[in-house]
Amino acid sequence: MRKSIATVSVSGSLTEKLAAIAHAGFDGVEIFENDLLTCPLSPQEVRLRAADLGVSIDLYQPFRDFEAVPADLLARNLRRAERKFEVMERLGVTQLLVCSNISPDAVDDDELAAEHLRLLGERAAEHGIRVAYEALAWGRHVNDYLHAWRIVRMADHPHLGTCLDSFHILSRGSDPGGIEAIPADRIFFLQLADAPLLAMDVLQWSRHYRCFPGQGDFDVAGLVAHVLRAGYTGPLSLEVFNDVFRQADADRTAVDAMRSLITLEESVAHRLGQAPPIPRPVIPTGFAFAELATPDTARLSELLTALGFLRTGTHPGKPVELWEQGDARILLNTGGDGPELAAIGLESPDPAGSVERAQSLLAPVLPRRRAPEEAPLDAVAAPDGTPLFFCRTAQPDHPSWTDDFGPKGPVTGDITHIDHVALTQPWHHFDEASLFYSSVLGLRRHESLELADPYGLLRSRAVTSPDGAIRVALNITHIGPQPSRPDLPYQHVALASQDIVATARRLRTLGDLLLPIPANYYDDLEARYQVEPTIRDLGLLYDRDEYGEFLHVYTVAVGRVFFEIVQRSGGYQGYGASNAPIRLAVQHAGAARHALHP
Ligand code: MG
Ligand code: MG
Repeated sequence: MRKSIATVSVSGSLTEKLAAIAHAGFDGVEIFENDLLTCPLSPQEVRLRAADLGVSIDLYQPFRDFEAVPADLLARNLRRAERKFEVMERLGVTQLLVCSNISPDAVDDDELAAEHLRLLGERAAEHGIRVAYEALAWGRHVNDYLHAWRIVRMADHPHLGTCLDSFHILSRGSDPGGIEAIPADRIFFLQLADAPLLAMDVLQWSRHYRCFPGQGDFDVAGLVAHVLRAGYTGPLSLEVFNDVFRQADADRTAVDAMRSLITLEESVAHRLGQAPPIPRPVIPTGFAFAELATPDTARLSELLTALGFLRTGTHPGKPVELWEQGDARILLNTGGDGPELAAIGLESPDPAGSVERAQSLLAPVLPRRRAPEEAPLDAVAAPDGTPLFFCRTAQPDHPSWTDDFGPKGPVTGDITHIDHVALTQPWHHFDEASLFYSSVLGLRRHESLELADPYGLLRSRAVTSPDGAIRVALNITHIGPQPSRPDLPYQHVALASQDIVATARRLRTLGDLLLPIPANYYDDLEARYQVEPTIRDLGLLYDRDEYGEFLHVYTVAVGRVFFEIVQRSGGYQGYGASNAPIRLAVQHAGAARHALHP
């Protein structure tokens, strides 16, 4: 299907917006009036610019407060419309969006509204222009899409149709099933936006919190399926007002938007029982490794040894060590800066298929870093730049990437595998990252949580594979630009232990390797639950959900990374989110001490 986007959805000047939109591969744009008003180019020049970039101008918007008004106001509104038609002719655009009247002058009279819109349709026809009437969720008298359609039907003019907007329909909780009863040739345009479920004023919700489909909580694919069943063949057009996108890089936002539309198209095809438009996701079956870059391996080696890992090999051609325990594998790379989490290896049943899927969703594919005798490793860059490698480890009939490190025996201990990795995202890439992991890797997005940090809020959202073998916790530590304050460790690798009491006891015996937890935490914990005294004695953290229990503990940080040791029982699904404020407070205190006594 044709893909469009409203210029309001990305940042910058109109020419910057058009370039970013064209570059991301969109077929068309909706010109948001303010973007034209603030543009030094004439409408003819904008038309040429768009044509040069290969994007069509599909819609001019918005034209406000037109219908169902007293006679003197109608005359003024028609004069206003005539001037806009002239601008549209110079722009070369043939559709105008008219949104339902919000002015106190509007009269609650459908017949009057229809009469006025018919007049507008007649005037528009003289310019070869079509008028698409849209019900705003906060329209004064018309705020429901079926109400807008009834008025359009009553007006009965071929140059008047309706514009459907997923936000206005779904934010009101309207049933989109009624769309199928609207004749296809009367649906002039389809605007799409998602949003997180929020209990707030619908106008503020729309202006600040819209997001691209797949980033919020609305069933946008379900709505589009109804529109397509009605017979609509026009563009899918994104119209997103969002505080973050207004400040973010236009090129990135446009690519994020395109990824959203491609993913949406796939979900819609699935709903309609049609062939998928892109290769199916290859869901990773586990973590192959976590790669930590560090110029000095001493501290991390000490920590890994205390955790029970063994250094099982060194790469012949690269400054990389392999550390193993059970199916948990850590690569220590002394070639980079750090210490930081430098890459993640994902077990893929079909690495080439993983890359193909990623490419079809505009993920940057990284050049293979490999000598001729080494196992091939395919990788793509996640939105925060972290390389994601698609690997095969010790699968029959396939070379294992671990062969590069030489032969070795199994290393057994209480640590069995990597449970999850937590990645801190730049604040303006949070929604982009959650869509990236869900669409590119076929992971499921869980609800977004807000947690208290002593100096702000931490927002967190997990993406997981259906069987829980892959869990990635995406965090942002600041909502807004980074304030100046001590840097916190910001990435962690969580290791699953089958005996966390033994692991924690070993780490306590070997030195100050675990984060100290305040006694007040245990006073509260013991008030809420009957827990074993070992939990307080060893400084473990505890959580439970409807499925089971969770014990976890954090190591001290090395540079910007730390380890978490976790033990899940009974199918616990979470990450100990209720304990995160405790961890953050202790880490802040440590960072402040470090700033005073470096
Ligand atoms: Mg709209
Ligand atoms: Mg964690």
